[in-house]
Amino acid sequence: MNAIPPPERNWLAEIRPAMRDVAPSGIVEVFNYGRGRQGLIPLWVGEGDLPTPAFISNAAKASLDRGETFYTAQAGIPDLREAIASYMTRVYGAVPGGLAFSPQNFFVTIGGMHAIEIATRLVAGPGDETLIPSPAWPNFVGAVETSGARAVAVPLDRKGRWSLDPERLAATVNPATRAIFFNSPANPTGFVATREEIAATLDIARRNDLWIIADEIYGRVTYDSSCAPSFHDVTAPDDKILFVQTLSKNWAMTGFRVGWLEAPPALAATIENLVQFTTSGVPVFTQRAAVAALTEGEAFLAGQIERCRRSRDILCKGLASTGRVRFFKPEAAFYLFCAVDGFADSRALALRLVDEAGVGAAPGAAFGRGGEGHLRLCFARDPAQIEEATGRIMRWLGGEWRSQPIRPMSDQLASETPSGAGGSANHKFT
Ligand code: PMP
Repeated sequence: MNAIPPPERNWLAEIRPAMRDVAPSGIVEVFNYGRGRQGLIPLWVGEGDLPTPAFISNAAKASLDRGETFYTAQAGIPDLREAIASYMTRVYGAVPGGLAFSPQNFFVTIGGMHAIEIATRLVAGPGDETLIPSPAWPNFVGAVETSGARAVAVPLDRKGRWSLDPERLAATVNPATRAIFFNSPANPTGFVATREEIAATLDIARRNDLWIIADEIYGRVTYDSSCAPSFHDVTAPDDKILFVQTLSKNWAMTGFRVGWLEAPPALAATIENLVQFTTSGVPVFTQRAAVAALTEGEAFLAGQIERCRRSRDILCKGLASTGRVRFFKPEAAFYLFCAVDGFADSRALALRLVDEAGVGAAPGAAFGRGGEGHLRLCFARDPAQIEEATGRIMRWLGGEWRSQPIRPMSDQLASETPSGAGGSANHKFT
């Protein structure tokens, strides 16, 4: 007798709707579509092409060889907390009025993402709202939604550069608002807040008794100064600010998963609890690698920035010369956030670039309000590869891409291009 298979359980109906309904990252969709394609140049994910340098990896290996394979302190190993405090004093204590940082302020996390997760849970839950200047890295919204709170986008302006209008920010605050996510230098736009914009945001937070979650992970990846303006430049000890940091980008350590949360020491027991109940701590060997990066990593970081600068210049010059790609040249971080004339649907454009140009780009729609119509291209790669990727996009835009075309490009472009577009190199938004 053939057994009748039981009806399949609807698993999604069995979990909390709030978790099921969290929007997926639109970057991952294009990435999954194109990954594994032969010869594709991946500019979609926010990481570079260099492996972690040996002086950092060796510190991890030595730790493993010493048998450092046990549970450890929830706040992080003392050596790393000390190294973070010294590093922060070196970088931010140098500002006028800058103070020495104490190891007690720093809590080691599984990358910057876990610091964001803990910061969000500390300050926002069901019924609460957080403000997120947008376009923004989608994981801010993800962290807010998984904590049960509501993410409210505050559109950035595009007047001459990406910027945040403090009045608009203040007008969005309501009695449910608990926190402002402030990411500068920003992913994906490259927005670098001025000291005045940071001070104005702090003022709004003070007046409304809000927390600021300051994600300054790209603060050292700057092209015109040694360090971007920071809340550290303007803050007083009783300001409600939680800082997010990571080793991932500066030292090519995305796979190590080490970052930190900077918070008032009085929150130590609570933060350690949250670490205990989420990850139960960060592996010691990756923390040893982080100590090496923070204490010996300045030359590597300087080299990374120079390499990014060359790649940025190649990409910007090439795309501007098409006359069809509009952007602000990024002054920090390693993303070009650009609009391509004639292509309003960024997801469709990103999928076509995978198939027809051999370039992986992140669709702007993935970055929320104000992102649609743009692409994010990560240029933290070998300048020669960026030159190749730039050439591919340029040829594709010119309708000359011939390698495995899925459909003839020139006809398509002609019908999608508004008349008068093309010609003069225009790399400014108007
Ligand atoms: N903040 C921003 C703005 C980021 O772009 C990223 C990574 N893309 C992170 C935080 C998290 O970095 P990590 O890999 O250390 O989790």
